[in-house]
Amino acid sequence: MKYVIIGGDAAGMSAAMQLLKYDKQAEITILESGAIYSYAQCGIPYAISGIVASVDDLVVRSVDTFRDKFGMDAKVYHKVEEVDVKEKIVKGKNTKTGEDFAYHYDKLLVASGAGPFVPNFPGLDLDGVHSLKSIPDTKAIIADLNDGVDDVTIVGGGYISLEMAESFRLLGKRVRLLIRGRQLANIFDDEMAELIEEEAKRQGIDILYEEEIEEIIGDGAITSVRTNKRTYETDLLLIATGVRPNTSFLNGTDVKLAKNGAVHVNEWLETNVTDVYAAGDCAMQYDRVKKTDQYVPLGTHANKQGRLAGMNMAGKNRAFKGITGTSILKFLDITLGKTGLSDREASAAGLAHMSVTIKARNHASYYPDAKPLWVKLTFERDSALLLGGQVIGEAGVDKRIDVLATALFNQMTVEDLEDLDLSYAPPYNSTWDPIQRAARKAVGKLEEA
Ligand SMILES: Cc1cc2nc3c(=O)[nH]c(=O)nc-3n(C[C@H](O)[C@H](O)[C@H](O)COP(=O)(O)OP(=O)(O)OC[C@H]3O[C@@H](n4cnc5c(N)ncnc54)[C@H](O)[C@@H]3O)c2cc1C
Repeated sequence: MKYVIIGGDAAGMSAAMQLLKYDKQAEITILESGAIYSYAQCGIPYAISGIVASVDDLVVRSVDTFRDKFGMDAKVYHKVEEVDVKEKIVKGKNTKTGEDFAYHYDKLLVASGAGPFVPNFPGLDLDGVHSLKSIPDTKAIIADLNDGVDDVTIVGGGYISLEMAESFRLLGKRVRLLIRGRQLANIFDDEMAELIEEEAKRQGIDILYEEEIEEIIGDGAITSVRTNKRTYETDLLLIATGVRPNTSFLNGTDVKLAKNGAVHVNEWLETNVTDVYAAGDCAMQYDRVKKTDQYVPLGTHANKQGRLAGMNMAGKNRAFKGITGTSILKFLDITLGKTGLSDREASAAGLAHMSVTIKARNHASYYPDAKPLWVKLTFERDSALLLGGQVIGEAGVDKRIDVLATALFNQMTVEDLEDLDLSYAPPYNSTWDPIQRAARKAVGKLEEA
């Protein structure tokens, strides 16, 4: 069986390893437009801040490992431009040599990820203007930082902006965030986002709302940005305004794409076209809470979807059970955790819901160094089913958000959550864990309603 995979990172290489495991006769060709395989994009902010010593530490397995150890035909600089799904041929160009290539497949996996979405600001071509997705992007930013950057401007208020604001701040740079809307981190409800804003301000980061870039100014290199409100002198601009799936090579084929270009897949990671699969940032994910396909480009989904796509392609059938939209982020001295829906998202999904918020401590208050922890639960009014959780604090966010994610995945009610047998000792929590205290408040609110 000839397998062709487009994209040599998280989803693609997770699939390739499963093909190798479950199909001993597999002939695997990977077409990667860059030169680097299987690297940890999620670690990029930490390589920039220096917490991770070298960008090279982010490479999990080199292209030579896939070739020499696993016998895969792992190509570099092979940019796919077209797929003929009737003849089962993938075509493209070697960007190094300029030569055309064409490969026949029996089964194809599209794992081409997503690229940064960069609005068409005048002045984008100036030195010092960056987006961030790959190791070359990372090296370009590090090179600029080593060349006298004092002031950094970041466009966007999502998780990459926050992680990078932290990185630049840790390096001692002046940092401002330009946000088009009126809220930072808009996957959170506004009162939770205010906690993030407080932390940003406490750490000397300027947050500027309702500001959009109109022009990037400079002579060869950036010197300032002009927004709809004023002009800021700056040495480096990072544009982090979201991503778009890399699927233009599927335009004109019968493969069903969502509005943003992401590939629709079923639970077996199959597209609507026979023998064409998709996984990762280029694909949609089934959302177990909203009960519909969503686009949530995260590394956790890419690894999982890729692994399962590989198994299914090799005939070891295993379904992808969907996502609940769980994420976690370290932002300076606080951690932000989110799973499922915020109030705003529940309203947008047309779900009759209620919510409770509590401020607790991460562990017993008499045990030294207790830290405040905010927990917000959103739940369905009629069924009492948990719809989502938001947890913010200096410590103990990770375990709470993962308990909530597990509860959500298993469609538990707030009463079920209150009944859970969670661990307890004073250094870790209280007899009633903060999420159970929030659940108890939710049960009370439902009883009163
Ligand atoms: C700075 C940063 C921090 C992140 N932090 C987190 C985090 O903390 N947690 C989390 O869950 N996720 C995080 N993510 C997201 C995570 O990295 C992605 O979801 C994950 O890398 C997606 O994997 P993928 O294999 O689907 O796509 P990618 O990793 O984008 O890989 C796709 C590959 O396909 C190649 N390709 C694209 N087009 C073509 C073509 N036409 N022909 C051939 N090859 C092509 C690309 O060169 C690329 O190597 C972060 C991302 C970034 C950028």
